[in-house]
Amino acid sequence: MEVAKKRKEVLRAWFTAVVDKLGYKVTPNAEMADFLLEQLVLLERKHGSPYCPCQALSGNREADMKIVCPCIPYHRKHFDYMKQCWCGLYIHKDVTDPTRLRQIPASEVP
Ligand code: SF4
Repeated sequence: MEVAKKRKEVLRAWFTAVVDKLGYKVTPNAEMADFLLEQLVLLERKHGSPYCPCQALSGNREADMKIVCPCIPYHRKHFDYMKQCWCGLYIHKDVTDPTRLRQIPASEVP
């Protein structure tokens, strides 16, 4: 358990630095962030990479690499439009109240 906690904090620090450069930050919803980071640790243990907790693996390696967290670069237009990533773990830096954000299917992005 201690190892999982440590890994969670390593991922948190690493991902925070990566998404910062993309204009995003970790959601201020601490409970949600903790839950999603824990799921990422479990998925990394199970599959070898921290796949997205909110998107289904296809079994196609090339397609699945596009949902390794943080997957923002692969879904830039979509996430920028929602001002958050699909899971809501990361939000645009200018968002102060993520409760106002919602998931919008990629097919609805103009
Ligand atoms: S939707 Fe968010 S939490 Fe899921 S992989 Fe992409 S960046 Fe990570």
